[in-house]
Amino acid sequence: MSSNSRVQIAAFYLFGKVASENIETLRVKLEDYGRELGLKGLVIFATEGLNGTISGETQASVEDWLAFASRTLGFPEIPRKWSTAPVAPFRKFGVRVRDEIVTLGKPEVQPLAPGSSTHLSPTEWDEMIASGDAVLLDTRNWYETRIGTFKGAIDPKTEEFSEFSEFVNKKAEAGEISRDQKIMIFCTGGIRCEKAIVEMNNSGFKNVYQLDGGILNYLEQKPRSNFEGECFVFDHRVAVDQDLQPSVQYTLCPHCGQPADQKIECVRCDTPAQICITCLEKEAAMKTCSKNCANHFRAAPGRKGKSQGAQYRFQRTGR
Ligand SMILES: [Zn+2]
Ligand SMILES: [Zn+2]
Repeated sequence: MSSNSRVQIAAFYLFGKVASENIETLRVKLEDYGRELGLKGLVIFATEGLNGTISGETQASVEDWLAFASRTLGFPEIPRKWSTAPVAPFRKFGVRVRDEIVTLGKPEVQPLAPGSSTHLSPTEWDEMIASGDAVLLDTRNWYETRIGTFKGAIDPKTEEFSEFSEFVNKKAEAGEISRDQKIMIFCTGGIRCEKAIVEMNNSGFKNVYQLDGGILNYLEQKPRSNFEGECFVFDHRVAVDQDLQPSVQYTLCPHCGQPADQKIECVRCDTPAQICITCLEKEAAMKTCSKNCANHFRAAPGRKGKSQGAQYRFQRTGR
């Protein structure tokens, strides 16, 4: 591993109580220290814990921040999943306060105790799949599931995570899944499942299991196995491939911000670009490299113009 020439990225979350009267002071401490270390990334911080993806030139600098966060908040060690990239997938370092560290829309839903038997390691996960008596259920949104998921998994096609509970309950009422059967749920890094499982248990689902550490942990241990395609991530990489490397297939669509892999030449400025399949099927003005070019094209469809600059620039794929 050429750990010196690449940026080290850690994805992590930890549920733990933070006193609301201290939260702004703590936020500033966490943010200042990350900037002092020269890190990049985004950390969501709430009275229920923290959730983030951060990167640094060395693994030691990222670990330094995670240890500082544990000490500052009085938390145990924060579990993390590693990946690398040629350049940082964020422009700056920020810690933001929200109501929840993952948005279910119900801050009162608290996760089960850590280490509970419903967390499956990637090996246990594959064994349960092989047993053939469980249903796989993706807790992620449509723009994530469509670029990669587990073979045979149910895709809820949700726009956002807060729609998930309603989806599973409807599915059960329609008789398409049973509250008694084994259901295996998964997400990117595991955090959405921490809340989804509690919601499902509260709704009477009795045999729900979650993939510990999510798809990122699974791919680290079992690339090219039961997960197919790429895993969407919420930073400039757009997605990571089976080797946890930044996607070369997908960029962000300049029109809608979803993963894009449809190669076009901008009808306004002739610049090669990638747009998503949904936008490709819309009006001709979408076959452009940017919102600006789309607007110019709509105003004067026949006329060519100079490049109006795609916004997304990141390493190998040129975004
Ligand atoms: Zn699009
Ligand atoms: Zn253009």
